Amino acid sequence: MCVTCGCGEAGDQGVRVTALGEHEHEQVHGHPHAHPAVDTLVLEERVLARNDHLAEHVRAWLAVRRILAVNLMSSPGSGKTSLLERTVAHLAPTREVCVIEGDQETTYDAERIQRAGARAVQVNTGAGCHLDAGMVQRALEALAPDAGSLLFVENVGNLVCPALFDVGEHAKVVVISVTEGDDKPLKYPHMFRAADLVVVNKTDLLPYVDFDVDALTQRARSLHPGVTVLPLSVRTGDGTDDWYAWLDRLASTHDTPREGAVHGAAVRP
Ligand code: MG
Repeated sequence: MCVTCGCGEAGDQGVRVTALGEHEHEQVHGHPHAHPAVDTLVLEERVLARNDHLAEHVRAWLAVRRILAVNLMSSPGSGKTSLLERTVAHLAPTREVCVIEGDQETTYDAERIQRAGARAVQVNTGAGCHLDAGMVQRALEALAPDAGSLLFVENVGNLVCPALFDVGEHAKVVVISVTEGDDKPLKYPHMFRAADLVVVNKTDLLPYVDFDVDALTQRARSLHPGVTVLPLSVRTGDGTDDWYAWLDRLASTHDTPREGAVHGAAVRP
């Protein structure tokens, strides 16, 4: 839990939002720190309640612009950015795609997305181990996505804190690679309980590792009954059609408000 590790208390101090190709600007907003005597549980509830409030504003802002937002979460190195690069290359000819990249440091991933053909903004969280709704709010101001676009949020790589923070997305996707082990749902239940989709990446490596896709599926479904599990290989492209089909289904079931309401909601409360 973020309050336990301390990053939930940090507010957005030191968080840096970088819109590539534009003037880099640092936004630092201090928040009063909780009194040290405040009980951890109360602090945890306060942090999450504030986040949930901001997340609803983000969702309202996205809704009037008919923007569908997907929050990608995983361990570092499972292939989130590679999946997005492939997805951008596939979808960009037919629909507007943009990406908010979250990492503690560097703009590497936003640069990769930009090279793949989509606009991207990098959020560097400093010591923080997750993106929150306030960071996404500020990233959206920098990104200014077109109405009707598909927005991906690539969260900071870990299977713990990102699961707890609503960033205003419409769907949460967890990516797990076959090199990580099929026991991860049981070790990180919050993540797999929260996920609307489980992507199993690097299936081209299955002959070389002890990873049982059926066991992973059964464990994920013990936490989230019926959750869809999509094995694929970003490297070879096997299974990626199922991923695109899942995105299409999500877009088709997404509630789209009427045209012309685009200026109706402010990104900030
Ligand atoms: Mg990445």
